[in-house]
Amino acid sequence: MQSNETIERFLDRERPPFNYERQLFNDHFCWVLPALREDTPTPYELEIQPSSKCNLRCEWCFGTALTCGKLPDKLGSEEMRTIAGRVADLSDEEFGIETVKFCGTTGEPLMNPHTAHTISMFKNLGKRVILFTNGVLLDVEDSAGIPNLDYVALGDRLNVSLDCGSEETFQAIKKAKGFGRIVKNLERIVRRKTELGTDLDIRLSYVISTKNQAEIYQTAKLAQRLGLTK
Ligand code: SF4
Repeated sequence: MQSNETIERFLDRERPPFNYERQLFNDHFCWVLPALREDTPTPYELEIQPSSKCNLRCEWCFGTALTCGKLPDKLGSEEMRTIAGRVADLSDEEFGIETVKFCGTTGEPLMNPHTAHTISMFKNLGKRVILFTNGVLLDVEDSAGIPNLDYVALGDRLNVSLDCGSEETFQAIKKAKGFGRIVKNLERIVRRKTELGTDLDIRLSYVISTKNQAEIYQTAKLAQRLGLTK
């Protein structure tokens, strides 16, 4: 009884849309019961941070101040294959890793040249794949001439951190060019998604500051013109 109240208090500590714990609890309830019995079910999600380097310098990013931003990428194609093999081994009928998420606390996932191809590897294992990216490198091609966005279009969700509605503001907050290139990349991946007939859910994210708050509406209109999900 007391533990029920404790859980309720925990779940209610924030209100929608910030009640992340309640959403997780509802979405993954079958993992909660064994955890309460002190069993250790396989995690439902694997998060991979393929690179600690970034091609932008967003004003709010603590990664720009960390020396670990200069560490070399450790995950090559061999390591990615090993991780995929472990994920396949961990899956059983009752519990298995459902989602593989590529993101980067201090770095851009596509700075690692193996990230995009690895998305198709996990899709072949039947996993739900999510990529968080700044979107600049979606057009970069591999040695076979295949652009990153062709692999990314096979995934389930793409979250592009655009954060503004113009090149001028982009350069002011991210200290590099890229707005126009990202918009072109988004147009291309929307087309590719249609050609391949995939269900890729493409979203823009926006960190609001005094420098970009005036462009929220035009960015929303841009997202609408591009046909993005959210
Ligand atoms: S794109 Fe992401 S990792 Fe790169 S500087 Fe901006 S917030 Fe940091």
